[in-house]
Amino acid sequence: MMTKRWSVDKNVDKEESYPQLSQAADLLKNNEVVAFPTETVYGLGGNAENDEAVKKIFAAKGRPSDNPLIIHIADKRQLDVFVQEIPEKAKSLMDLFWPGPLTLIFNVKEGILSNYATAGLSTVAVRMPDHPVALSLLKTTGLPIAAPSANRSGRPSPTAADHVWEDLNGRIAGLVDGGPTGVGVESTVLDCTDATPVILRPGGITKEQIEAVIANVHIDPALADQGQAPKSPGMKYRHYAPDAPLYLVEGTREKIQQLVDEKRQEGHSVGVLTTAENREFYHADFVFACGQREHLETVASSLYEALRHFNHTDADIIYSEMFPDEGVGQAIMNRLMKAAGHRVIR
Ligand code: AMP
Ligand code: MG
Repeated sequence: MMTKRWSVDKNVDKEESYPQLSQAADLLKNNEVVAFPTETVYGLGGNAENDEAVKKIFAAKGRPSDNPLIIHIADKRQLDVFVQEIPEKAKSLMDLFWPGPLTLIFNVKEGILSNYATAGLSTVAVRMPDHPVALSLLKTTGLPIAAPSANRSGRPSPTAADHVWEDLNGRIAGLVDGGPTGVGVESTVLDCTDATPVILRPGGITKEQIEAVIANVHIDPALADQGQAPKSPGMKYRHYAPDAPLYLVEGTREKIQQLVDEKRQEGHSVGVLTTAENREFYHADFVFACGQREHLETVASSLYEALRHFNHTDADIIYSEMFPDEGVGQAIMNRLMKAAGHRVIR
């Protein structure tokens, strides 16, 4: 399949500024799949009401069929079409964080969305992306659009159009290039079907931000304990992994350098994932600084770029620093732990 690629300027905040998007929207309305930028990562969109379109998303990504998709909307009124009821707490959160990186789980109305999109569950995940290109595309289709991250399953999520191209060129009908994304880690997934909402996946909106609105929020215990089955099906899969094995190191930079030296003496080609502050400290074959430790949102925004970067080197082992498990650090550590297959050197 020929993948059509369009370039649009995300800084132009008017629907009329995106004539290219009508072609992309037509493909979506014809039940083809198209990748587009959001404020978190690039998404691979398809008509959520159509089985064939949704099956194409799973096929292009190689995604396991038991992992449901997030439905993207541009207007809150679209919710009434396929969601049973919207709890008051969810309304407050939507008022504050939509559009934005917060996905809410509701009970689904039967018979409207494709069962492939919800993986046959009685609930549905929905969000409104905070990106002018995404919103404009969604409005033009008028459809609920199912859109997981636009990467091959298991690989780091795409934060630039070239990442999507690398993974999906020839496998999808179109790619809207709107430049690099901003937040860099996926949305927070919050289950709103219980009286006390539960964070199923940490992401762009922090636990602290949610607590400021609804006082009480739980965290799925499976996030801290690998022995438990996660409530979010996708959280059980290996994800975000670079090609070479990644190890997280709890300890000083001197300790990491010592590990690097040992491996290099054994003849390995070693990569280090660090931040700007420690960039010059390390002597390794490949050192990649992702953001600044004192501004964790800059680490989030370049984390996947960093993980992909090592795939273009011949590093055969990667060591990474760790980050504080608070604020957006929770999402960073969640993704790094998965990328490392939970290998931590203490
Ligand atoms: P992705 O779109 O690849 O960023 O992944 C979406 C995440 O949302 C995955 O972890 C899914 O398992 C999760 N998810 C989607 N729908 C539901 C649902 N109805 N209940 C629980 N988790 C969901
Ligand atoms: Mg994903």
